[in-house]
Amino acid sequence: MSDIRVTIWNEFRHEKSHEEVRKVYPEGIHEALAQALRQHDDLSVRTAWLDQPENGLTAEVLSDTDVLLWWGHMAHQEVADEVVDRVHQAVLNGMGLIPLHSAHYSKIFRRLMGTSCSLNWREADDKERLWVIAPSHPLAAGLPPYFELPAEEMYGEFFDIPAPDELVLVSWFTGGEVFRSGCCYNRGHGRIFYFRPGHETYPTYYDANVLRILTNAIHWCAPTPEAAARKFGNTPPVEDVK
Ligand code: ZN
Repeated sequence: MSDIRVTIWNEFRHEKSHEEVRKVYPEGIHEALAQALRQHDDLSVRTAWLDQPENGLTAEVLSDTDVLLWWGHMAHQEVADEVVDRVHQAVLNGMGLIPLHSAHYSKIFRRLMGTSCSLNWREADDKERLWVIAPSHPLAAGLPPYFELPAEEMYGEFFDIPAPDELVLVSWFTGGEVFRSGCCYNRGHGRIFYFRPGHETYPTYYDANVLRILTNAIHWCAPTPEAAARKFGNTPPVEDVK
């Protein structure tokens, strides 16, 4: 089997403007994730970021991408609409998409969901306990029944998303809130996995369980030949039609 071609897209602004973020991710969130994912022989990993030409997501890059990870927060509006159109079309054509944390509010995720994708939040070093509520799902392979992140930003319900096609993770926070943290969607031929953790001031993307979920998600979101072979339009009958 050929490698899964992974592109990790990062806004890459907090790391330049906030010293506390640079301390956690000196080369950027995208590079921290890339270094971890490159340990897997079956993944071919590249990175892209907002300030590159065409926001780093040219037609060439997307045509060479099976699964796109997306981290954005402070500059969602700076992503060009034509780039969003291009990513949207790529997902409908079968590319996998993994929006991370504050990408809940990205143009592409909101378009794919069709809702506001608003939520409640708090930056107060809450402990986050993530419960695996679909243990037989491929996304949960190798995970314990629950795991904890010692400090994270809180995201709480109500999260204004369509009901996920499959819900794999639910978070609980010290403050008492809960949140749908691992949400699977199908859109066109493409698969989407929204994953909640990953506020920029915490070392979440070095956590072994988080990296396991993301690796599982890349495999789950990768396009299948069956999806690519689907056809639409005028079609001859399977049996004679009288
Ligand atoms: Zn955040």
